[in-house]
Amino acid sequence: PVLAAGHVNCDVIVRVDRLPEPDAESAIRSFDRSCGGSAANVAVSLSRLSVPAGIVGSVGTDEAGARAAATLEREGVSTAGLREAPEGPTAVKHVLVDDRGEVALLGTDGVNEAIEPGDVDPERVRRAGHVHLTSQRPATAARIARVASEAGVGVSFDPGRRVGERTYDGVFAHVDTVFATAREAESLPEDGDYALVVTDGADGAELRTAEGRRHHPGFAVDTVDTTGAGDAFAAGFLAATLEGACEKRALAYGNACGAMATTSEGAQTGPDRARLERFLDA
Ligand code: ADP
Repeated sequence: PVLAAGHVNCDVIVRVDRLPEPDAESAIRSFDRSCGGSAANVAVSLSRLSVPAGIVGSVGTDEAGARAAATLEREGVSTAGLREAPEGPTAVKHVLVDDRGEVALLGTDGVNEAIEPGDVDPERVRRAGHVHLTSQRPATAARIARVASEAGVGVSFDPGRRVGERTYDGVFAHVDTVFATAREAESLPEDGDYALVVTDGADGAELRTAEGRRHHPGFAVDTVDTTGAGDAFAAGFLAATLEGACEKRALAYGNACGAMATTSEGAQTGPDRARLERFLDA
């Protein structure tokens, strides 16, 4: 399977007329609970694309954690590497979404950062077909990346919006592919020896390698919520790449999955394989 390692969250999606600003009140239009967390989102998206996926992450021993685990299992994601951490709550994110689909977050990390390097079963990592790392404890990510690369297992990494606050040197040394938004890309080490995929919302994505840059435009869709678009993109790109697709097709898969994920509310809204193929054929 592809192992996705990192955060598993319970999200509360709050639709508001506008994102909050100091000294102003925003009106709540609706709210819903759903599951999220970058690693969980990628694993669910991969599973929907018929790529066997497993998770390495933590939830608390609470109702939110049970719900997150049940959602992963229902989606066909292996939870053998999901640790029930007694030391704290499951991470909860309040995802504020305005009428244009713009997002602001209010959250706690809960036990998402509870996994230490020693908690990761190296055999699980060596047996993986590929490892995708998302934002997490740098030491844990570094260990997974090293074990994987020493075993010849491919490693991709999406460090997320906190990339500037953390030191992931031990990870970047072992990765093949990095996913980042244009803003996040500014915080990446300059001498990285990996393929970089820079996503740019509705404008699509660009693959930067030693050979040069290849841009693929985004797909025009009716966007309602961009939460998890980057995770759906990564799943689409990885699914295509692992099947041996060319760069252009991998970018198209990523953009299609990212775009489709923005057309409904929630973080785990990537398409299944049949919907993706229909979308790309249209
Ligand atoms: P993140 O979700 O991590 O902030 P982006 O906003 O760059 O990252 O979105 C990731 C990908 O999802 C984009 O590269 C694109 O393929 C797709 N996407 C995101 N927003 C839109 C949109 N409004 N319309 C079409 N595609 C989108």
